[in-house]
Amino acid sequence: MAWDLVADYVIVGAGSAGCVIANRLSAERSLQVAILEAGGDDRPTRNLSQFMSNLMIHVPVGYARNLKNPQVNWNYETEADASCGGRVFSWPRGKVLGGSSSLNAMLYVRGQHADYDGWRQLGCEGWGWDDVKPYFLRAQHQERGASDFHAIGGPLNVSDVTETHPVSDAVIEACVSAGIPRNTDINGGEQEGVGYYQLTVKNGQRCSTAVAYLHPAMSRSNLQVVTEALASRVIFEGKRAVGVEFIQNGVTKTIQARREVILSGGAVNSPQLLQLSGVGPGALLAEHGVPVVHDLPGVGENLQDHYLVALTYRLKPHVLSVNELTRGLRFVGETVKYLTQRKGLLTLSAAHIAAFCKSRPDLATPDIQFHILPATTDVSNVGEGGAMELERAPGLTIAPCQVRPESRGHVRIKSPDPRVHPSIVANYLSDPLDREVILAGLKLGRAIAEQPALADLIDHETLPGPAVKTKAALLAYAKMAGQTLYHPVGACAMGRGPGAVVDPQLRVHGVEGLRVADASIMPRLVSGNTNAPSIMIGEKASDLILGKTASSMAA
Ligand SMILES: Cc1cc2nc3c(=O)[nH]c(=O)nc-3n(C[C@H](O)[C@H](O)[C@H](O)COP(=O)(O)OP(=O)(O)OC[C@H]3O[C@@H](n4cnc5c(N)ncnc54)[C@H](O)[C@@H]3O)c2cc1C
Repeated sequence: MAWDLVADYVIVGAGSAGCVIANRLSAERSLQVAILEAGGDDRPTRNLSQFMSNLMIHVPVGYARNLKNPQVNWNYETEADASCGGRVFSWPRGKVLGGSSSLNAMLYVRGQHADYDGWRQLGCEGWGWDDVKPYFLRAQHQERGASDFHAIGGPLNVSDVTETHPVSDAVIEACVSAGIPRNTDINGGEQEGVGYYQLTVKNGQRCSTAVAYLHPAMSRSNLQVVTEALASRVIFEGKRAVGVEFIQNGVTKTIQARREVILSGGAVNSPQLLQLSGVGPGALLAEHGVPVVHDLPGVGENLQDHYLVALTYRLKPHVLSVNELTRGLRFVGETVKYLTQRKGLLTLSAAHIAAFCKSRPDLATPDIQFHILPATTDVSNVGEGGAMELERAPGLTIAPCQVRPESRGHVRIKSPDPRVHPSIVANYLSDPLDREVILAGLKLGRAIAEQPALADLIDHETLPGPAVKTKAALLAYAKMAGQTLYHPVGACAMGRGPGAVVDPQLRVHGVEGLRVADASIMPRLVSGNTNAPSIMIGEKASDLILGKTASSMAA
């Protein structure tokens, strides 16, 4: 076969995990590494609209602008969700260097130690907390300095918010009086508690994995970064992956992988690409005329996501929330502050305050996470391209989610054409436990809002509103108003059982020369946001591929 390009390792997808792997593998100068990315470059360009999209990647508050921007976003949609009144959910995913780390809200959260110990219990040997901790540390540059749980010197910058906010400070007081302990480090020894989130931001700019890992490696002569390249299938010889077919500017091309192909296309694409390549449930592949390379029933199943439901409050007229900073002279002032000091509104993420707590006192670890921000989205005024606008009057959002949902969905191809988005079924709140925990979260959110520390600040609840009182009414609200927290995982689950897709070395079961390394391999969703865990997966995958261990890396 005549190949257009050749490398030892071919990585599909330059996202949170893929950029890490490209950097770590190409650091071995004897290896030829290629990374294919369906989206474009994230750096400034001469094309004005692309320039604006890319600018909005790097200025943290630009997050809201790219949530539906097709220049950098796959803009997936779920099927109508039967368990949430037939609603269709919008699922943004980054389609640009950095992947979803170029689009996300930059909250730095690792999850609980018990999450990873739980993976190990499920048969994922080498993925317990003690095994993965060195990879979180290797990735990190913690601006607070090194400690038992944090490291300095890694590529991923982790910083505190540039400014606290009086309403957020009052929310912390309210949480404490509602029984949630103060916690200044939710990524330390204990996750339970309330405090400000830390962010993957450096000097007021987003620290995506493109910025942290890929840009510094792009000048290496042994790394090819191929953008605008949509991988359309893995090429097999028998059961061995030997390369990847991709479409670039309408032309179908091929790249040979002399050693391995690594799929890092993320939670939706990795299962889709496996199915398109003939690795997946036999009946599904047959339905779409895809020749079966290996019948692997778990590919696309076990999909999990966090489901967030917001309580919103109108603050009293004298209170200044983030809402008012986004308009008029105040916005001009914030822009000047950003340009001169790299501080303020423009460095803000989608949440200020994290609170992790338990829905029942007998639980060993928290099962509820709050995202809290002194701002409210104007749902009646969605800006150009679907950008999020804030309300004019002062507002506060207190949004709980259940961190370990039991509901499961799936990703299944709808067509053998790689350009056709697959069918995504989320099944939010389909499990009774998920309904119970979200109700507990809403109840606790209201209890926080009723604490004395917020009495002088909150005027009234706007959503769902005081008339919504009974469990049934609150659940109906949760179903109609909840949204994705953008954390899909699990559809190429790691493990050993019949539903598993990859083994603990991340090798796809039943074939050779093929691994998956991204959020899709998580057998169970972690109890927190998924960017840092995806980066950890990229770090550990690199060592697995190179045959290194955590201890050899320290040497
Ligand atoms: C809007 C939003 C907000 C979020 N907020 C946070 C947050 O604050 N904190 C947090 O921890 N997590 C957050 N997340 C989640 C987190 O960013 C993701 O879980 C993480 O980035 C997933 O990493 P990944 O490597 O699995 O996939 P991605 O980072 O999505 O990377 C996949 C890459 O593969 C490319 N690709 C896909 N298919 C192909 C193909 N066929 N050919 C070539 N390239 C392909 C994509 O374009 C993309 O660049 C958020 C996510 C989103 C979308």
